[in-house]
Amino acid sequence: MHYEWLLSLMCEYSLWISIGGCTLLVVLILRKLSGKRTVKAKAVIRGVEDDKIYPWYQPIMDARTGKLAGSEVLARWHCNRCHIISPDRFIHEVEKSGRIVLMTNLLLQRVAMDLLPVRDQLPENFHLAFNITVAHLNDDSLLRTCLKLKMALPGVILVAEITESKCLEPAQTIFLQLSALRKAGVKVALDDFGTGYAGLSALDRFPVDIIKLDRSFISQIDEKKNDTRILMAGIIADIACQLSLEVVGEGVENLYQQEWLMAHGINLQQGFIYSPPLPAAEFIRRL
Ligand code: C2E
Ligand code: CA
Ligand code: CA
Repeated sequence: MHYEWLLSLMCEYSLWISIGGCTLLVVLILRKLSGKRTVKAKAVIRGVEDDKIYPWYQPIMDARTGKLAGSEVLARWHCNRCHIISPDRFIHEVEKSGRIVLMTNLLLQRVAMDLLPVRDQLPENFHLAFNITVAHLNDDSLLRTCLKLKMALPGVILVAEITESKCLEPAQTIFLQLSALRKAGVKVALDDFGTGYAGLSALDRFPVDIIKLDRSFISQIDEKKNDTRILMAGIIADIACQLSLEVVGEGVENLYQQEWLMAHGINLQQGFIYSPPLPAAEFIRRL
């Protein structure tokens, strides 16, 4: 197993593996190293400009067949040897610095390089999802990047996941950008659906193909609970079906959630029950 990958997994999933005093000590050191604090703006900007932000890949599975249906590209900052930083700690700074579009373009170039050699091994209609923010929708370079990626990976279906729908003003430019992406064959997904402003009104205002049911709903799906969030998850699944939208359930962690989602027609699933986000080499090894 790749040493760096093991370390980063330990940093990321340290709570899961803290069994026994010895392991706990290692994990605590790693957690200390990885830290949870936001990183310095200058360092992040250098990271982006030096092209140190790498795509990691989290499988999206078809729960009915157990087969790979796609993957979400999640950014990781490879800060230096054995030190991998999660997006929650740096994306905000990248956005503030005005370099989020540059970062995404570089990230997607790397995705093309990673997947080009194995494009024939990807399943048919492989969904390749990546995260965008409102800044991308005010910039036409995203469309050009998507067109290049589609040329490099014919047959792959690109999915632009809008993460910050709270900023999605019903502006004409945003509507036009989303329409242009769809016209170019890129699907549009509303991320974190059911939270903040990523709700029903957004479906009415913007052209959307896919909704990603937020993890906060799925984590409540538990045979011992009777939470209103579970009821809402069922309602969202019904509405999506009525509107002919695809739904991806995110943050699926156990069998009960997996089966509940399938019973509600949500077969596309992503979560630790299947796999954490993986570095390119490991994702490719599992194809
Ligand atoms: P997101 O787009 O909602 O991505 C899903 C997050 O949930 C990922 O965290 C993933 O590792 C985590 N996750 C997946 N399955 C499970 C599960 O079963 N249980 C739990 N507890 N967590 C799960 P990650 O990679 O740390 O990303 C955090 C957020 O950072 C993303 O949330 C997205 O909003 C943002 N982000 C990541 N990459 C990019 C990027 O390239 N561009 C932009 N603009 N934002 C990004
Ligand atoms: Ca996402
Ligand atoms: Ca999400």
